[in-house]
Amino acid sequence: MIHTPETYMAREEEYGAHNYHPLPVVLERGEGIYLWDVEGKRYFDFLSAYSAVNQGHCHPKIIQAMIEQAKKLTLTSRAFYNDVLGEFEEYITKLLGYDKVLPMNTGAEGDETALKLCRKWAYTVKGIPENQAKIIVCDGNFHGRTITIVSMSSDPDSYGGFGPFTPGFIKIPYNDINALTKALETPNVAGFLVEPIQGEAGVFVPDDGYLKKAYDLCKFKNVLFIADEVQTGLCRTGQMLACDHEGVRPDILILGKALSGGVLPVSAVLADNEIMLTIKPGEHGSTFGGNPVAAKVAIAALQVLKDEKLAENAARLGDMFRKEIKNIKSERIELVRGKGLLNAIVVKPMNGKTAWDICLALKENGLLAKPTHEHIIRFAPPLVINEQQLREAVAIIAKTIERM
Ligand code: PLP
Repeated sequence: MIHTPETYMAREEEYGAHNYHPLPVVLERGEGIYLWDVEGKRYFDFLSAYSAVNQGHCHPKIIQAMIEQAKKLTLTSRAFYNDVLGEFEEYITKLLGYDKVLPMNTGAEGDETALKLCRKWAYTVKGIPENQAKIIVCDGNFHGRTITIVSMSSDPDSYGGFGPFTPGFIKIPYNDINALTKALETPNVAGFLVEPIQGEAGVFVPDDGYLKKAYDLCKFKNVLFIADEVQTGLCRTGQMLACDHEGVRPDILILGKALSGGVLPVSAVLADNEIMLTIKPGEHGSTFGGNPVAAKVAIAALQVLKDEKLAENAARLGDMFRKEIKNIKSERIELVRGKGLLNAIVVKPMNGKTAWDICLALKENGLLAKPTHEHIIRFAPPLVINEQQLREAVAIIAKTIERM
């Protein structure tokens, strides 16, 4: 059979569940900031697999680490020790300054792990009566797709039709310190789970000082401050963690996505002993979590972030990106917001055209981005992008939007 982009797309449509709505482009190769489709056309990748590919596609050092380990030992399960997991655990805890790490696979599993840790801590350390613990979450959050996680969601696309839901959550508006202060008065609050910037909601950056104030309020009430840095972490916003911008050290930190540079699912939850040691053998885990390939890949992925100074690059080029986008003369762009290289533009729908149509036109012009909601486009290139490449990409965005 001769394949065309249409036959690839039709096959997915026929045999795959319809739980995504991809842009009509069929990719077959990636390197650094670029992707190529099956017809050989090159694109700037301005999504980075939702910030999983911070280190760039197929980073040679990460791929090398993966291949070397894959030839030796891939999976032992946690029924036995292996010679690599401890190396990863020591590396990441020393790098980020925590007593312990619990490795999982996907971001959602990382969030689930954090919720379980928080509840266990509530009962065994804080002394909340059994089954009474409450966790405060924010409207507009995105933490993944499990039943418990969609139970916390305020987005009908996420929770609609999936009830009954997991109880024990209090929803408050994001970026609202008064609402948090009030919610913390509720009896039996154990934790506050927050994204330092809400990525999926449309790159909502809270006011300066919000995270620090929220953290201080939590401390005052002996409530765990839990940061979901699955999307914002690992240099994306111009610091190793987005919480670093405000000098906040979360009690529980959740990482995922770029922890493997996009080569396999690796997530991790970090906390100190008082919290982490509340979970005992047999009470939590996963067959693949912390497998030797994941461990080696994660070390390499973290090392690349440091060696290539990707936080600094994200900070510098992010400032430049927002400045250049603000210079585009078009009524279509309502605003640009973001931090580091996690940015979004809010577009005005005109002539019946939405953010989706703009993304289609960007694709034609050689740049891949995805709308988040009807009128927001997220721009998040791999952090290995350089100034010249960024300027070229901005020129494509400007040309596309000016012509619409
Ligand atoms: N948390 C945040 C902040 C995310 O942005 C995402 C995914 O976009 C997740 C959790 C879920 O990660 P995964 O898709 O790997 O389960």
